[in-house]
Amino acid sequence: MIIGIPKEIKTLENRVSMTPGAVESLVRHGNKVLVEAGAGLGSGLTDAEYETAGAAMVSAEEAWGAEMVIKVKEPLDSEFKYLRKGLILFTYLHLAAAESLTHALLESGTTGIAYETVESPDHTLPLLTPMSEVAGRMATQVGAHHLEKTQGGEGILLGGVPGVYPAEVMVIGGGVVGTNAARIAMGMGARVTILDLSHQRLQYLDEVFQGRITTMMSTEPNIRQMITKADLVVGAVLIPGAKAPNLITRDMLSLMKKGSVIVDVAVDQGGCVETIKATTHDDPTYIVDGVVHYGVANMPGAVPRTSTFALVNQTTPYALRLAAKGVDALKDDPGLALGLNTYKGKLTCPAVGEAFGMES
Ligand code: NAD
Repeated sequence: MIIGIPKEIKTLENRVSMTPGAVESLVRHGNKVLVEAGAGLGSGLTDAEYETAGAAMVSAEEAWGAEMVIKVKEPLDSEFKYLRKGLILFTYLHLAAAESLTHALLESGTTGIAYETVESPDHTLPLLTPMSEVAGRMATQVGAHHLEKTQGGEGILLGGVPGVYPAEVMVIGGGVVGTNAARIAMGMGARVTILDLSHQRLQYLDEVFQGRITTMMSTEPNIRQMITKADLVVGAVLIPGAKAPNLITRDMLSLMKKGSVIVDVAVDQGGCVETIKATTHDDPTYIVDGVVHYGVANMPGAVPRTSTFALVNQTTPYALRLAAKGVDALKDDPGLALGLNTYKGKLTCPAVGEAFGMES
């Protein structure tokens, strides 16, 4: 198969969808790999390394002209012109929060396979996990930074110091993002509470953190109670494929401390905070009712070298199977088939259909 690796064009997105090592595997399995010149530079991967691995360095048009395009982020408006019937696009799509892209994929007849809805046999999300690990760990790091007075925060050191109380960190959603955010916050010395809807998940967290964090059921009264104390709130809920529920509504902001910080990692699925909107790394925050909002939808893009390798470790085995069999690879793996969001002009992900009131 001919496989294209375009350069990412989202603001300050420096990840790339395949490393030279992964390209080498694809080439070894009889595929031709077209890498857009300079695609890996942001992750410290040179054109020469890709050429040594067997890739041909090409223009954006040529990379997009391949039978299967592997990307990191969803296509932006300026890339819609490359979408077409028969093209397999393997990337993060997050369609529930992207109506115009959904229409572009359907109208063009593109086969859209979304990383974030591929499942493992144990129902975990193998292609979302590595980026969630990165974003979760970063959420605490950026939250701590924005609690600084010069960043608009209340001027609190996350871990406190001997004799002074540390920050209260509230994590909503105790999945991969939430667990990683909690782990770093706990490591920095903050007091941490995780809220989740799943009792089983709360039991697990209680066990692995050995009582060093507090767990709470994610109910509206508990959220209202916790946000009055929180210095940092990390939004980390996910209902796979669907738009995130608004768990912190606009009226609740008045209950929060001035200068407290919300890092809504779930912003890529619309966010779990009513007042969140997507921001970019070059202008990551804004303030509503005295509360700092951070809504970067591609957080792992800030640490591209770590993120590229973490992502490619997980995507390569799927890419190899898609390259060998095309869409027929989905028949062999029901988990990979769940990644199919658009096919021959039809929406094939029920959660996206629900988000837009469309049939799927
Ligand atoms: P996950 O499936 O591992 O965890 C989600 C958790 O949310 C689950 O434990 C689930 O029980 C819980 N949950 C669902 N509804 C809830 C509710 N009402 N209240 C409390 N908890 C609830 O998902 P994840 O991998 O941790 O991803 C979380 C979000 O972060 C996703 O939207 C994902 O796309 C996003 N994400 C964003 C970035 C970024 O750069 N902004 C990067 C990676 C992941």
